[in-house]
Parts: sequence; structure tokens; C-alpha cells
Amino acid sequence: MIRKFLGRVFSGQLFGPAQPKILEHGAHGVGRDALSACALRTTQTLQRHGFAAFVVGGAVRDLLLGRRPKDFDIATSATPEEVRGLFRRSRVIGRRFRLVHVMCGPEIVEVSTFRGSNPVEDAGERVADEHGRILRDNVFGTQEQDATRRDFTINALFYDPASQEIWDYHGGVPDLLKRRLRMIGDPEKRYREDPIRMVRAVRLASSRGLEIDAATRRPIRRLAGLLAHVPPSRLLDEMLKLLLSGHAAEGVAQLRKEGLHHGVLPLLDAAMGRAAGERFVIAALEATDERVRAGKPVMPGFLFAALLWPEVLAEWKVLEEKGGPPIPALYQAMDHVMRAQAGKLAIPHRHGADMREIWAMQPRFLQRAGKRPYRLLEHPRFRAGYDFLRLRCASGELDPALGAWWERFQHAGEAERAQLLTGEVGPRKRRRRRRRRGPHGAGVASEGGGPPGAQG
Ligand code: ATP
Ligand code: MG
Repeated sequence: MIRKFLGRVFSGQLFGPAQPKILEHGAHGVGRDALSACALRTTQTLQRHGFAAFVVGGAVRDLLLGRRPKDFDIATSATPEEVRGLFRRSRVIGRRFRLVHVMCGPEIVEVSTFRGSNPVEDAGERVADEHGRILRDNVFGTQEQDATRRDFTINALFYDPASQEIWDYHGGVPDLLKRRLRMIGDPEKRYREDPIRMVRAVRLASSRGLEIDAATRRPIRRLAGLLAHVPPSRLLDEMLKLLLSGHAAEGVAQLRKEGLHHGVLPLLDAAMGRAAGERFVIAALEATDERVRAGKPVMPGFLFAALLWPEVLAEWKVLEEKGGPPIPALYQAMDHVMRAQAGKLAIPHRHGADMREIWAMQPRFLQRAGKRPYRLLEHPRFRAGYDFLRLRCASGELDPALGAWWERFQHAGEAERAQLLTGEVGPRKRRRRRRRRGPHGAGVASEGGGPPGAQG
């Protein structure tokens, strides 16, 4: 009773006109047993102390879609300090938005206080930049306001574990049934407040099989340039989610279709402009999607290395044609591409280091004589470098026989390895030959993939 009353107070129903549509359990079928133990315990504790508490956002959306949520977010009427006081294992985090991480065993749920709708002017203080981008919006509000400041209708659903009701302020449930992604409020204004919502629209549509509503989609192409004003670290978070969603191929294709890739991966355009580059990037994204869907880990550095490889390759070739020695030319091309990318997407140093290792390893796969192949096998990143080589073979950049040779060599016993090596040109002579032909592998196809036994 009290909880219901408080819920109404915090939802703004007693003061404001906005009424949520409340769906009973029978109307949606999501039971509280679908929640994680931590989400359930946290909402129960908050409610027991008289606060409103709901599971909210992506988790409710995904449960309705029949997907297992990655994590659970909770929205509450309690302030961060009040939440902190109720859970021994919790901490307040965030500067832009203050929220509380509650920990139960290894699981963490994020608890945020209902936030108000975005004020553009707040007591004369400027909280938006000249493009309308919101710089600060840590204002507590009602549940209804908390729903309204969210991006899409399907992301603004509240689930009450106690009653197993869904509270829908913006028609998110009917949108979900129609598999429609629709912005809350005026799409252009919402994109100006936070341009990252354009990337989120594409990411959610491609990963959840949704159609972007016409009015929500229309302004994107025109406003794509606003991504230039978004902090690169936020862009990276969204891009990583897109690339690791298991639907990266569709996601990147849709980013290009909406004209958003310029602001995220400016070099991708050039890469995709060339048939070979496009084949390579698509092969890389499809291989990644397959791994993600099989529950295997994916190295972000590998992905970024793949997305930027066509550009590295092109610059490497140009530098070599100008007469530069191949390896320094490769390193120069790598540096240049990394620098050109850096302003857009803040690729963290550790991923950048992985990318360089994967690229730098590529010429070494052409050396199939002497001790060098053995040394390459011991490289800590051999597996990533080799997977990368396979993609180059699959996309037609290199003779598939080269990939097949390495497949055999790494799994062969000692005697077979020695045999695989014997057909090769000696290392000294070979080095001279390669310098003339260039290390890109253009010559590999005509050189053949090693001894006849390696061709299969
Ligand atoms: P995923 O399941 O892929 O994480 P998500 O929708 O949960 O998708 P989060 O970034 O975890 O994405 O955000 C959680 C919720 O916060 C969203 O469902 C949405 O309600 C809200 N939200 C996130 N980003 C924005 C934004 N840029 N503008 C408005 N609301 C946002
Ligand atoms: Mg989420």
C-alpha cells in the first residue's frame, strides 16, 4: 500500500499529468525469476525501506525480447547517499552522473536515482554547449522525468519485481512488439543534446533486429557531423559495444548507410572504397560476429587492427613505391594511420599496442625458412597474428596457400615441420629476393605457397 503510494508520488502522478501504462505480469510474461539475484535483492531492500525501486532500461527491453540481459540497472527514488547507507558492499561512482554500484558476490548492479529531464539553462548557469549538447544533468527528478530523459521508448520501461508490473510512460511495449526503435521527444533536439544517441540508434537497431522509426532516422544524416563534439572515450564505449554485439557486420554497414562512420572511423571510408579493402573488413567483422555468437573472447585490438588494415596496407605500398625499405615503410604507415585515427576514437593504449603487434607480425609470415617460423610460433600474439593472416587470405589479399602452410606448420610434428621448411629458399637468398618484390604478399601468389605438400 505504502509502496504503491510512494511509487505514485515519485512517478509524479499526484502532481503531473503523465500517467504510465501499467502492464500486469500476465500481459508481458516477464517473471521476477528472470532477474539476477543481485538485482532482485537490491530492489527488495530499497522497497523495504520505503523507496521506489525498479529494474530499468536495457535489461527490461532485453527480457521482453526474450534475451538474457548482460547487466541490470536499477532506478530508485533514494538518493546515492541513501542507497550507499543501505548496502555495505557499495560505492558511489561517477562525476557527470552520480550513481551507486551495489555488489553481491561477483555481480554488480548499477543503482541510479530518478533524474530530471535535461535543463538547458539552469538558474542562469549554462549546462549545454553551443550545439545544444548537454554538459551536466545531474538533477534529481520524478520517475516520469526519469523515463522522459532516456533515449528510446523501448529503453524507458520500468519493471517492478515485487508486483511483476511493467510501467511504460512512452509506448515502449507496443514499439517493441512492432520491433520499432523510436526516440522519446523531438529526435533532432535529442540528438543535439547528445549526438552519441545516433550511434546508439544504429547499434540497437542492428543488434536487436529493430527498424529505426522514420522520424527518428531522418535527422541522422544531417546531424552526423555533431559526433565531432562527443568525448572520444564515450564514442569508444559505444563503438566497442557495437563491434562486440555479435552483429558488427550489420552495425558497421548501417553506420555507413547513415553517414555516421566519418565521425567514428574516418579511415573506414577509404578502406571500403577499395574492393579488396571492403572484402577484408567484411570478412573480419563476420569472423568476429561468429566468435561472439559462439561465446568466444574477442580482442578489441584485433578488430581495430582489421578495420584500419586496408589503410595501413595502402600507405605501406605508397611508401615502398617511393623507394623506402619495406619494414620501416610498414612502421611508418602504421604510425601515420594510428595518428590519423587518434583524434576521433580514443583507442586505449593497450589495444593500440595489440594492433601494432598484429600488423608488425604480418611480413614475418612470409618467412618460411630457417629458424624464423619457429620464432614466430613463440610470439605471445601468434594466434592473433595468424588469425589476421587467415583473413588476408580469405579476402583474396594473399594466396590461401600461405595460410594453409601456417596451419600445417603449427600443428605438425618435428619431422613434418622440417620437411615443410626444406622446400623453401634459404633465408639469405630469400631476403634479397623479397626486397625486390616487396613484402605485401602480392608476389606470394606467383611464388606459390611453399612446397607442394602445403598447397592442400
Ligand atoms: P546494452 O544492453 O547494449 O548495454 P543499454 O540500452 O542498456 O544497451 P546502456 O548504455 O547500458 O545501454 O544504458 C542503459 C540505459 O540508460 C538505456 O537503456 C537508456 O535508458 C539510458 N541511456 C543510455 N545512454 C543514453 C543516452 N545517451 N541518452 C539517454 N538515455 C541513455
Ligand atoms: Mg546496459
